[in-house]
Amino acid sequence: MLWFTEYYTGEGMDLKGTGLTIKVKNAVTTKTPFQEIMLLDTEDFGKMLVLDGAIQTTEKDEFVYHEMIVHPALFTLGRKPERVLVIGGGDGGTVREVVKHNPEKVEMVEIDREVVEFAKRELPTISCALSDERVELIFDDGREYVRGKENIYDVIIVDCSDPVGPSKVLYEEEFYRDAFKALKDDGIFVTQSESPFAQSKVHRMVVRELQKVFPVVRPYLAFIPTYPSGMWSFTIASKVIDPLTLNPEELSGRVSDLENSSGKLKYYNPRIHYGAFAIPNFIYYEG
Ligand code: SAM
Repeated sequence: MLWFTEYYTGEGMDLKGTGLTIKVKNAVTTKTPFQEIMLLDTEDFGKMLVLDGAIQTTEKDEFVYHEMIVHPALFTLGRKPERVLVIGGGDGGTVREVVKHNPEKVEMVEIDREVVEFAKRELPTISCALSDERVELIFDDGREYVRGKENIYDVIIVDCSDPVGPSKVLYEEEFYRDAFKALKDDGIFVTQSESPFAQSKVHRMVVRELQKVFPVVRPYLAFIPTYPSGMWSFTIASKVIDPLTLNPEELSGRVSDLENSSGKLKYYNPRIHYGAFAIPNFIYYEG
């Protein structure tokens, strides 16, 4: 019998004496120039992708992360997106949710080609939209890719790993400034922003750095069982549009239209849209 443990000992972790252990039936490991990739077939969570010892996604709970990194931002945009940029996101789940909004074009910039190849082979239910004709895959550093771009994207989504190695630069103010410039005037930026319970300093830092750049910054929460502590956050930032001022009836209509064409969502709904932005008192951003 095999068990895998993710030890919460990495950079920025508050719970250094804690981890998550999952029973595993089978394991495949490979090393790329950027990271170690593991694919574990687990007893309870289906197939699970692990990069450098950190759980990235599992077949059982991936819908929460992927719906919640995409739909609050895309529905906030309030119109059909022309160009969407996804940075990271190698497993393909974020792109799968983006294409439900019928964009004209999606660019996904992933630094590690082998994560994408691995996901295409081993995680077809997650990676299925990567072969969509509107999706362009670019194998490059997402930080460099946005540099110098101006006024071209409707939405930029940062689906990166923890702030170590190549992801580190995706948590910095200078990157957020370049993302701001790359967005259209009504554009929306969204990033995963770690666990406010297990990685509180990193979470607060993301929100504060975004506040230096964007007039509207809204952190929000979702429950993801296989991420540290289960409490996860994302943060939307924009030049003008506030996700909390969407008209509830219009939002309900747009969600129904999407579900009629792409199938029922499993986590996101209009009540979640507003409720997810309610932040518990122990999470603070000042000082
Ligand atoms: N859902 C995940 C999580 O929070 O654990 C993130 C999933 S996704 C697999 C993260 C991806 O970001 C990895 O495949 C990694 O190769 C990619 N990545 C890291 N740094 C990057 C960078 N600077 N540019 C583009 N992709 C990057």
